[in-house]
Amino acid sequence: MNEALERRVAERTIELEQSNAALRRSNEDLDEFAYAASHDLKEPLRGIHHYAQFLLEDYESRLDAGAQHKLKTLGRLAERMAALIDTLLEYSRVGRADLAFAETDLNEVLAGVLDSLAITVKEQGVQVRIPQRLPALRCNRVRIGQVFHNLLSNAIKYNDKAEKSVEIGCQGGRLFYVRDNGIGIAAKHHEAIFRIFRRLHGREQYGGGTGAGLTIVKKIIERHDGRIWLESTPGVGSSFYFTVGANHDQ
Ligand code: ADP
Repeated sequence: MNEALERRVAERTIELEQSNAALRRSNEDLDEFAYAASHDLKEPLRGIHHYAQFLLEDYESRLDAGAQHKLKTLGRLAERMAALIDTLLEYSRVGRADLAFAETDLNEVLAGVLDSLAITVKEQGVQVRIPQRLPALRCNRVRIGQVFHNLLSNAIKYNDKAEKSVEIGCQGGRLFYVRDNGIGIAAKHHEAIFRIFRRLHGREQYGGGTGAGLTIVKKIIERHDGRIWLESTPGVGSSFYFTVGANHDQ
């Protein structure tokens, strides 16, 4: 390499490092903002919920059916908003927390997740396949458990087949997949599903949900220096892939 080119490469490297650092800071600021805002919103919302309850309880005899119905709706909406705020808090927490990384046997993690989903798996007659043993690697045990839990419960939830099946596997040590034979996702939605509060269905369809599960999963994976993506055929099924990087705690 000639000298000018070498200098240019060095300059570009510094520029890239600087913009990475700026991006990291701005993400941290966003997490901080989401945390502070959602934390402060909870208190007045709790007040609104309580006052709706007080009115219902203390003035019951004086309120006609229409007024009672409206107050109940107010209470329900406040509860829904509280659930959304909790989700936002959880999301910002994943970004802010100091994650502890340790060598972790992923077979144990997966066994724990399957244990917690055992009733659903049994009730819905889901066939779960794990073709090969998973490796042990350095990660945050609880958060990676959350990733498997989320992907698995989605694989079961978004599935209308009479015989539901899910396969969990590993390719080459750091690449994992969760594959289902569910409803599938059209390619045009593959990015949107990772956005917060984004659902492709009505609020009550497919067991409901706030639409934040995959957003949090993506954030956990990114904190593990990894990537998440999917391949899917509508009506046939989906495969979610994710990697766990080697340099996440350096
Ligand atoms: P939630 O399940 O609370 O809606 P998620 O963030 O986990 O939120 O998922 C976002 C959307 O992506 C879901 O509403 C659903 O439409 C779609 N989705 C997620 N996983 C699957 C899957 N395995 N098969 C089909 N659709 C899925």
